Amino acid sequence: MAEVLVYVDHVDGAVRKPTLELLTLARRVGEPVAVALGAGAEATAAVLAEHGAVKVLTADAPEFAEYLVVPKVDALEAAYKAVSPAAVLVPSSAEGKEIAARLAVRIGSGIITDAIDLEAGDEGPVATQSAFAASFTTKSRVSKGTPVITVKPNSAAVEAAPAAGAVEALAVTFGALATGTKVISRTPRESTGRPELTEAAIVVSGGRGVNGAENFHLIEELADSLGAAVGASRAAVDAGWYPHTNQVGQTGKSVSPQLYIAAGISGAIQHRAGMQTSKTIVAVNKDAEAPIFDLVDYGVVGDLFEVVPQLTGEIKARKG
Ligand code: FAD
Repeated sequence: MAEVLVYVDHVDGAVRKPTLELLTLARRVGEPVAVALGAGAEATAAVLAEHGAVKVLTADAPEFAEYLVVPKVDALEAAYKAVSPAAVLVPSSAEGKEIAARLAVRIGSGIITDAIDLEAGDEGPVATQSAFAASFTTKSRVSKGTPVITVKPNSAAVEAAPAAGAVEALAVTFGALATGTKVISRTPRESTGRPELTEAAIVVSGGRGVNGAENFHLIEELADSLGAAVGASRAAVDAGWYPHTNQVGQTGKSVSPQLYIAAGISGAIQHRAGMQTSKTIVAVNKDAEAPIFDLVDYGVVGDLFEVVPQLTGEIKARKG
């Protein structure tokens, strides 16, 4: 069976969920071979093996931390040459997309970005993408070279599938470009204790209807009762009520959670572009004619200042 390279996104050996989802998709098209780089790379092996990695190629060197993405591209290219895979899968983060694009150029292959599903096809892997603010779903395959595909978080279920996960050291030679851009400082973002917006299984977002920064605690409390991330419409962000890092939409982040709750959001096309692939959509809006109700699975016509606290109270009560 053909091997499929899976680029591992991890923090000091802790593998992030989108990588485990990639392993589920990789198994549909071949045998997953994981590529883990940087500090803690070897520590990723156990969890990658539990989720289907037949092999884990690891490399660590100061270059991975001290410089921007090119050393990682050098390493992924080395893995590509060592394995000759049927496809290369990379998480659709900002960094992942840059790594994938650079790799595709180097190996002369086509690339598909932001896939939301992947299946085996007669002529290679077939990726599903959501286009034009999720008005269309397209299926495509790479017709030149080895498919390089980036996949959005929450596109597949994480499945246990024990495999050998044999660790092998990957020999990497860094090219002249690798040290071209040096990292001079890192500032960790203040932790809210909530999941990362693009990876969260549940997102609760507030819009102009929240009517002020001082009311966003209602959105946060509902989010916390569900273990969710907090999002915001551009109107709420532009008004200075919530940070831009939480904006969902065309000029914000694209999310695809199991559950998306929109409170006081009208459902403009630019907002939909960032959340329309959510599996279940719930809206709370006092205007029964609001466009958001055209795409919801469950809609509540009502004042969010009444509905949201009641919902939070009910969820907390049920959790005991
Ligand atoms: P509104 O459209 O003003 O809607 C507020 C809603 O709240 C209304 O439906 C109202 O009925 C409801 N409401 C009011 N009070 C209550 C209450 N008490 N209880 C319940 N409901 C209530 N927007 C994004 O979100 N993300 C983007 O990334 C983005 N990018 C854009 C890029 C471009 C190039 C452009 C031109 C626009 C972009 N926009 C984006 C803006 C977008 O067009 C809308 O203006 C924006 O999404 C509106 O935000 P909103 O739904 O919060 O506000």
